[in-house]
Amino acid sequence: MLEIVPLPAFQDNYIWTLRDADRKNPHAAVVDPGEARPVKEYLAREGLTLVAILATHHHPDHVGGISELVAMTKVPVFGPKGEPIPELTHPVGQDDKVEIPSLGASFSVLDIPGHTRAHVAYYGLESLFSGDTLFACGCGRVFEGTAAQMLDSLTKLATLPDETKVYCGHEYTLANIKFARAVDPDNPLLAAREERARALRAAGRPTLPSTLGEERATNPFLRCAEPVVVESANKYLGSRIGDPVSVFAAIREWKNRF
Ligand SMILES: [Zn+2]
Repeated sequence: MLEIVPLPAFQDNYIWTLRDADRKNPHAAVVDPGEARPVKEYLAREGLTLVAILATHHHPDHVGGISELVAMTKVPVFGPKGEPIPELTHPVGQDDKVEIPSLGASFSVLDIPGHTRAHVAYYGLESLFSGDTLFACGCGRVFEGTAAQMLDSLTKLATLPDETKVYCGHEYTLANIKFARAVDPDNPLLAAREERARALRAAGRPTLPSTLGEERATNPFLRCAEPVVVESANKYLGSRIGDPVSVFAAIREWKNRF
């Protein structure tokens, strides 16, 4: 069994580190190493050797540490084909497999464009590494794609099983819940989620991973067809829209200004 350890980076990024839960296997892989230092320190402290790097998209706070890490240990680097990540050794896209034999791990690649042009997610071991596309109770900004693409990508992730653990790129959960409560004020599951997240942060712990079941029940960006979300989007716009893409675009814009 694998253990997935969050290494905090910058202000609010997480570098997800995969290692053997029984601590007998000295290998580790990392997802989205925006900086090298926390990874190097963790590997040294735990006596681990890096065997693979996975990148979800090209933003510097997700890939900035790769060159220093591969200079230390030459390992395969998986990431989206079609994005400018010079260190990639294994460019991947929809339905490709990422195999990490020394950890007994295998992931499927999902294309989830929108935040960036060719953003990918990695799914396996009942876990989803969603980068800056699906956040806990939120989603990333639409920088390089369209609202329709981003909604398609989120809808695709939302078809994964309820128990899927969601490991996203940032600790944005409390701010996301605050916005979600403005969109979906009477959702009792959101109130409960806020309480749990507050307690975790007060104890200095990550709010992640969440689960897809939890996201489907509380994340407004996965609930664009729910009457309450449609109504809130209309209140924000002062108009009458009903199709999910327009609703998504409206609440995404609202969140940008929130
Ligand atoms: Zn990003």
